[in-house]
Amino acid sequence: MIVGIDLGTTHSLVACWKDGAPHLIPNALGSVLTPSCISLDQDGTVLVGRAARERLQSHPDRSIAVFKRHMGGNKEFRLGSRSFRPEELSALVLRALKADAEAAMGQAVTEAVISVPAYFSDGQRKATRTAAQLAGLHVERLVNEPTAAALAYGLHQRGSESRFLVFDLGGGTFDVSILELFEGVMEVRATAGDNFLGGEDFSNEIVHWFLQASGLPDKARRDGHFMQHLAARAEALKCTLSTEPQAELAVHWQGRDYTATLSEDHYRRLCEPLLARLRLPLERALRDAGLRAGDVQEVVLAGGATRAPMIRNLVTRMFGRFPSAHFNPDEVVAMGAAVMAGMKARDESLREVVMTDVCPYSLGVEANRDLPSGEKAHGQFIPIIERNTVVPVSRVHGFAPERDGQQVLELRIFQGESRLARDNIEIGKLSVPLEGGPRGDGAVEVRFTYDVNGLLEVEVTRLKTQQVYRLVIRNNDTDLTEQQIEARFQALAELKVHPRDKLENRTLIAEAERIHEFLRGASRERMAAEIGEFEAVLAHQHERSIVSARERLRDAIEYFERAGVFEGGTEPS
Ligand code: AMP
Repeated sequence: MIVGIDLGTTHSLVACWKDGAPHLIPNALGSVLTPSCISLDQDGTVLVGRAARERLQSHPDRSIAVFKRHMGGNKEFRLGSRSFRPEELSALVLRALKADAEAAMGQAVTEAVISVPAYFSDGQRKATRTAAQLAGLHVERLVNEPTAAALAYGLHQRGSESRFLVFDLGGGTFDVSILELFEGVMEVRATAGDNFLGGEDFSNEIVHWFLQASGLPDKARRDGHFMQHLAARAEALKCTLSTEPQAELAVHWQGRDYTATLSEDHYRRLCEPLLARLRLPLERALRDAGLRAGDVQEVVLAGGATRAPMIRNLVTRMFGRFPSAHFNPDEVVAMGAAVMAGMKARDESLREVVMTDVCPYSLGVEANRDLPSGEKAHGQFIPIIERNTVVPVSRVHGFAPERDGQQVLELRIFQGESRLARDNIEIGKLSVPLEGGPRGDGAVEVRFTYDVNGLLEVEVTRLKTQQVYRLVIRNNDTDLTEQQIEARFQALAELKVHPRDKLENRTLIAEAERIHEFLRGASRERMAAEIGEFEAVLAHQHERSIVSARERLRDAIEYFERAGVFEGGTEPS
């Protein structure tokens, strides 16, 4: 059984292909969304998902979120006494999803299709594969997220030639991809995006508005706990404004209530600068694909922030058609990954489509460029594969040493769009030994091959000797060797993971602890006692009393959550 996995920045999902359709698989708490968060308990037990997210505030030095953006880098993250690479953190999320899938299907799951952002570089894709390997999963295929969204909508089954645009606005990033289907081949024609524009920016507009409109004193802005609380309220208000014409935001700070009401219309005006920024990547993707807005036959929405009507209106106005929004935008990528998994398993109800993608960056080498004046420009970036070229692709370029007598030809490989090599990202280096003879004898042919999984292979052939040199690309030495992966696999396997069947109780305690942090005085005492009581009941392992104790703790959490009590505020009377 092959599963489809959306390994997301904020949430991850797992789905499978069954009875001719994709199915999402719920986690131990019954939700299909598992927060991509990890926390290490006091005794070294790993918590994944909602329980870990609850601990981000109460145990910040043992908990982590948003590590996807560090994939492919060599930063390590400390949780308690251990440190983890981003691949290992992702591996723990993948392992939890694997366990959920195994529990749901009653069989071992060892193969997966995993989605990655279309703009993910070679190093980031490799890191994703390593994460899967560390979780005991073989990656059948990495699929680009926009391609997965299109597959979920069955766009690969359209008969004729068609073009789609995938508009993906998540919590922190915006991605646009243009896909084309032609004679059963689906191809990503262009990708563009903004890594610093997402749903959070829309929530921030509400925070700024409220600080002005409510008359909250400036001092409140320096109260970190309060500002976190306000941000959560602003996000909730934002979601309400997706369905209601207006909504009220009320908070309590240092003994006083502050309220203000925001209409959808006013909110839209606040967001106009953000809406203008959304247009730029859309226009760039269309230009790169050589298309006009009217040439796009369908616009597919992905990412939670596309639920906002103002986003849907923008798309409708720009493309002259309503977007496809039949599926839940948080789930569409995982559903598409499951469709791909079905194809990989050669399910008869699915016609296999050939999927092609583009290489998201230009790839090339550093060399000197001959200028028309006869002079040489040094340190130039010479692209071999251009950005947005359809993959798989293989391109060759000839190079010769600079001078006679050279002993070695150094090839430095870069990705990026800048004119000078040093302004791009170096992704590898290859040395070709020469005998120090005349310049012409050292001439080489450099072949770049970029495959559908986004992996780059560099092959250099010395023309005189026909000797071939292949490059194992080391992304700034961030790749792990097979031995290192094996060692880390063992270390991760030895980590204790909180048992799935006890996760509900553990998550509830984590949530209660987060609220406890915000309380003072008698309220704090009461919450501490409630948590203590619950832990005592758990210790006795009496199922009936556990159920009622759980209800009691849940009521207490709800009570304090509703009251909106936080440090600096007063307790409810
Ligand atoms: P994702 O990363 O795809 O899960 O998207 C998360 C973003 O979607 C967050 O910024 C949420 O605030 C936003 N979001 C979720 N639901 C809604 C909604 N109903 N209206 C507006 N934004 C939403």
